[in-house]
Amino acid sequence: MKILVVNAGSSSLKYQLFDMDKGAVLAKGNCERIGIDGVVTHKRPQKADYKTSADFPDHRAAIECVLKLLTDKDLGVISDVKEIGAVGHRFAHGGEIRKSTLLGDREIEYLESIADLNPLHGPPAISGFKACKEVMPYINHVGVFDTSYYSDMKEEAFIYPIPYELYEEYKIRRYGFHGTSHRYVAAKAAELLGNRNAKIITCHLGNGSSVTATMNGKAIDTSMGFTPQDGVPMGTRSGAIDPTVPLYVMKKKGLTVEETEKLLNNQSGLLGVSGVSSDCRDVETAAENGNARAQLALKILIHNIRKIIGSYIAEMNGADAIVFTAGIGENDSSIRAGVCADMTWLGVGIDEELNANCPRGECVEISGKGAKVRTFVIPTNEEYMIALDTLNLSK
Ligand code: ADP
Repeated sequence: MKILVVNAGSSSLKYQLFDMDKGAVLAKGNCERIGIDGVVTHKRPQKADYKTSADFPDHRAAIECVLKLLTDKDLGVISDVKEIGAVGHRFAHGGEIRKSTLLGDREIEYLESIADLNPLHGPPAISGFKACKEVMPYINHVGVFDTSYYSDMKEEAFIYPIPYELYEEYKIRRYGFHGTSHRYVAAKAAELLGNRNAKIITCHLGNGSSVTATMNGKAIDTSMGFTPQDGVPMGTRSGAIDPTVPLYVMKKKGLTVEETEKLLNNQSGLLGVSGVSSDCRDVETAAENGNARAQLALKILIHNIRKIIGSYIAEMNGADAIVFTAGIGENDSSIRAGVCADMTWLGVGIDEELNANCPRGECVEISGKGAKVRTFVIPTNEEYMIALDTLNLSK
């Protein structure tokens, strides 16, 4: 079956067309600047990328453009839209939806009702779904939710120690994010370990970052919480801080809620500490050139990842593997080395050479000799996971 995976953001719509029988990506791309002007990039394996401006007043126009490109005489990879057997839609937030599911009116109504839990990604994802459903009403549409991987966490891991009524009334709890990525790399690691019940700590370190503990194929804890703001420091997000800090800053500087949100979301993390950039590569270059705040930003990042890893080893009574994935996790050997340094007592240790020469885009084990906890670099593939769930629900 051919499956189209759609990831709609507020002004973009990313797509990938999979041929699941061949396990191949036929084409992928991104429609950007929806509602502004419009640019589309369309990629096919072994062919030159195609990029052009387009008119995207809304998500429907973008999906129509995608279908046109996929069936185009020269640029296309299928001859008819009817070759697409199902569509998988990525949703960052599924609220209390516990697993990937066929999307009908009831599910969309529920997702609309929780849109304020996820104001940035929720509404565009719903618009993207509605546009696809209108253009392809005759096939299955499946929702895959970043949060659903955390549905099996115990209450003590997801209920916050604040008045319980806030959970009952407003559903304030730890949801966790990046679940599709953690699920994919944890399953890959379990496969490499030959142990479906393994205790695995996955570090998804990108522009947004989170760390998840998986045991017996299920997530038992994760660093992101009610929003993707919690946990380790990120490109521009603070991660976990004392909750009274924003209150104090609001009072001191007379900031509004929106200004404080901006401070924590867009002006903190690597950018906030280094004052250089939100991009780890830029911060590292500055650090190498002697910029003390850039050096500090990297130390804070490493310090916080290590603390979370340590806490998950305690929670699981051990670990079989640590996995690094996403932009930083897959590419940045110095962050990996920093995170895994001086953990020999816990049985963690990596091989310097293997870590430094890790080939891009491949699953690689970088464990040191005799390390009890094995360490892997595993490229994430959220789109494939979405396609797989969509296939399984469409058979
Ligand atoms: P997003 O969360 O937006 O999907 P990515 O997973 O692409 O982000 O990760 C972006 C981060 O990965 C940036 O901080 C970037 O500096 C870092 N990164 C990407 N490539 C490399 C590299 N070769 N070396 C070090 N860091 C990298």
